[in-house]
Formats: sequence, C-alpha cells, structure tokens
Amino acid sequence: MGSIPSAVKHCLSYETLAQDYPWLARWLQEEKYGAICEFPKTVKIVEVGPRDGLQNEKEMVPTEVKIQLINMLSETGLPVIEATSFVSFKWVPQMADHVDVLKGITKSPHVKYPVLTPNLRGYQAAVEAGATEVAVFGSASETFSKKNINCSIKESMLRFKEVISSAKQAGIPVRGYVSCALGCPYEGHIEPAKVTEVAKMMYDLGCYEISLGDTIGVGTPKLMANMLQSVMKEIPTSALAVHCHDTHGQALANILIALQMGISVVDSSVAGLGGCPYAPGASGNVSTEDVVYMLHGLGIETGVNLSKVINAGEFICQALNRRTHSKVAQATVKS
Ligand SMILES: [Zn+2]
Repeated sequence: MGSIPSAVKHCLSYETLAQDYPWLARWLQEEKYGAICEFPKTVKIVEVGPRDGLQNEKEMVPTEVKIQLINMLSETGLPVIEATSFVSFKWVPQMADHVDVLKGITKSPHVKYPVLTPNLRGYQAAVEAGATEVAVFGSASETFSKKNINCSIKESMLRFKEVISSAKQAGIPVRGYVSCALGCPYEGHIEPAKVTEVAKMMYDLGCYEISLGDTIGVGTPKLMANMLQSVMKEIPTSALAVHCHDTHGQALANILIALQMGISVVDSSVAGLGGCPYAPGASGNVSTEDVVYMLHGLGIETGVNLSKVINAGEFICQALNRRTHSKVAQATVKS
C-alpha cells in the first residue's frame, strides 16, 4: 500500500471497518448494503418527450411531426408515452393541438398514452378526445405552484380532487407529478418533508403513481436519497417514480441512486427533448436513450429497443433542426 494514508487504507478494507466499527458494519448490512446491491429486475420507462419535452420548444412543432414522433416511439417497446397536455392554449401554445395529436396517433394496444389535465375542464376535453389515462401536475414549492399553475398548493389539491373523482367514476387512472422535489427556481431548497406532504396528499386523493420531479435539474444523489427516504415512509415504493432533468449533469446519477433505493419507474425524454426555462440553453429532461443504455448495462429489463428509440430521437432532432442531448445517440451517430 506504500504511501497511502492509514485512513484511506482503513476505508479500503471492509473487514477492518467491520472490526473497528461493528455498528457501521451492521448498518451497512441492514440499512444500506442490501439496498445498494438490489436493483429492480425490471423498470418501467415513462416517455415524456412529446409533452414535457416539446412544450419547452419555442418554435411551434407541426402536429404531423408530433404524431409521427409518438407513432415511432410506440414501436420501440416503451410502455407509456405521455402524448400531450390539455392545458389552455393561452398558457402553453405549443400544446394547443392536443385534440388533433391524441386523435391522430396510431394507438398501440401495448402502450398507454396519458395526457396532462390541469383541471376539470382539461380533463373533460381529454376524455372527449379519447384519453384513457390522465396526469395532474402539482408542486412541492408554494411559489412555483403560484407562478406555474396560478394557484396555491392547497387550491391545486382542490382542482385535482375534482379531476380525480371524475376519473375514478370513469375508471380512468390518474398519475400525479410533484415538481420542484429537489429544488425550486424561486425558493431554492425544498424540504423533503414538504415534498412528502404534497406527494402524500396526491396519493391519498387517488393518484396511482407519484412522479417526483427535479424540475430544474439541481438535485444531487444525496438530495435524491434524502428526499426519497422521507417520501418512502409515507408512500409505497412501487407507487413512486423519478423524473430527472439533466440541467447540471446529475440526472443519471440521481436515477441510479433511486434505483438502488428500489424505485422502478423512471421518466425520460427521447433525445433529451426539452430545456429549462430558468436556465436558457441548459439540457432538458434526461434522455430516454441514456436511461435505457444504463438500465440494460445494469442487467435491468425495460422491454425497450434502444436503436428504435435512437431512430425516433434522430427524427425529432432533424425536424426541430437541433442536436440531440443524448450522449448515447451522439456516440452512435451514423457517419
Ligand atoms: Zn420535466
């Protein structure tokens, strides 16, 4: 070991550690070591590119392009593709063609196509257009909630309650998003207890799955672990998903730690579509290609054909005249 300091030598030997610190050995075995070694066998990927990704594009994307993108993604083995958002066109002009998109796509029987419905009106329009699954979008940050969805957290819950009770009657599953789970552009740090409180409210209202979003991509693995640890005390792990943006290049690391903690649903966006309105020029959602590559490398099944996702990413990047944010796609570009 030559000149390695003794403290480092210590760390290199698990046996020495276990001998010196029996409590630590026990803790590693019971609390952490087991968790670190056990990844889920399969992971469900929720593709959010056509909605979360494209809604951040400034240039209007033609409806036919959106439809073709979703049709290509439907052939990749992805089990869930969030198709569009039934939000008012005044708020999000990019999603104004939601009815045409939802009606225009070729729906695969193996794929679910949830749409975002911010309120009862949006929900009713979505169902009329043929939606069979919807999602509601809340926030763990009071300020973000007011600026993004124009109401307090409490008011947002009342809106969700209306949507969820109508959806329940119609047998339509509702997914819940909690944004700003690892930080807020206005408030900065968000306490895990606050994320837990909001997530629990949405779960108790009837959302079958809660997607915890690092909306502005500021989280690190430690923040992710702390937040999940808190939320997992209140909500079953099987009902949780993570939604990471790659603004600071931490998305895959954050997802990895979530997997180690037992999370088996991951949101991602083909070609890393999307950006961050609070950091112009920054990367958007973590790319589906990179997530699939990592999961398959870990021996985790996704049912997704990576090269087909890369093709779909190439198609949308060409249509938008932009470069892919996926490192995997960049590395496999045909010359
Ligand atoms: Zn997002």
